[in-house]
Amino acid sequence: MSLFQEYMQPDTIEEAVENLKDAPGSVAVIAGGTDLLLDIRQGRHQAVDRVVDISGISEMQEVALEENFVYLGASVTHKQIISNSLLAEHAQCVVEGCGLIGGPQVRNVATIGGNVSHALPAGDGTISLLALDTEVRIASTDGVRWRPLIEIFAGPGKVTFDRKNELIVGFRFPARGPREGSAFDRVMRPQGVAIAILNMAGWVKLDEKGDIEDVRLACGPAGPKPFRARKTEEFIKGKSWDEASYQEACRILADEVSLRTSAHRATKEYRHKLLPVLLQKVLDSAVERAKL
Ligand SMILES: Cc1cc2nc3c(=O)[nH]c(=O)nc-3n(C[C@H](O)[C@H](O)[C@H](O)COP(=O)(O)OP(=O)(O)OC[C@H]3O[C@@H](n4cnc5c(N)ncnc54)[C@H](O)[C@@H]3O)c2cc1C
Repeated sequence: MSLFQEYMQPDTIEEAVENLKDAPGSVAVIAGGTDLLLDIRQGRHQAVDRVVDISGISEMQEVALEENFVYLGASVTHKQIISNSLLAEHAQCVVEGCGLIGGPQVRNVATIGGNVSHALPAGDGTISLLALDTEVRIASTDGVRWRPLIEIFAGPGKVTFDRKNELIVGFRFPARGPREGSAFDRVMRPQGVAIAILNMAGWVKLDEKGDIEDVRLACGPAGPKPFRARKTEEFIKGKSWDEASYQEACRILADEVSLRTSAHRATKEYRHKLLPVLLQKVLDSAVERAKL
């Protein structure tokens, strides 16, 4: 079985979006191919007429500090993310999340753009970027636009941008300021190499007293789309991170997520037991880092 008929390898974003737009039949972007090729082989995605390989576009491989934002190109691999010093400083949760993806072989080729575009509710890169309030840069032949990352998900594997004509070029999130820190953690089946039973990323900003001035929390799978725990965030804001606020935050979080039983990973009840464990680990770490 042929996975695709035609293979394009553009050098620029402009060429890539032209390659998408003028495709005579079905078309798909390919980056590392660790999701796409497996999905086609295993029947979750139809074979495509044309693939557009974006791995040679230099603008999509950049990591840079731009004024108050960090820019992360969509074709940056997980391996590159975990060895990047700028990201180690500004995006601790992303480095942790991407460092846990697959094994070394997968991380060598798989990209952050592919993780996000695959649109699973618990992609480790996706969940960690959500906690940083990330925006996504989308290109088409009409130009480029920024959108909040949270808005591009439409359901498991589904996105709100037009896969036939549009491409994720990169991401940006606020640079880390004073008294800010982030962290990521997850629970996997011991033999698991793909999607977590539950993952979570958190970001905090402390005030001068050491209380939580601002917080963001994302976790998955906690519904059909990658999830931001807005009610829990609202509760935690302005509190000190102590036993009483932790206990109440656990209650609110358990109430606002939508956990379910999945045949290959875990029961809904087990996932509920993991929520407080991850909340404590992630926010404890983020708070400690914010103090450094
Ligand atoms: C053995 C194994 C273990 C894995 N473990 C994990 C894990 O622990 N955690 C986890 O989250 N994932 C895991 N994955 C899934 C996968 O490796 C990641 O999601 C990876 O980041 C996908 O990136 P890629 O570059 O390979 O994407 P590809 O397979 O190239 O693309 C994935 C999808 O995104 C689209 N796409 C890619 N780039 C873009 C772009 N820039 N703009 C628009 N659309 C785009 C493609 O058309 C396709 O639909 C694992 C996969 C394997 C095979």
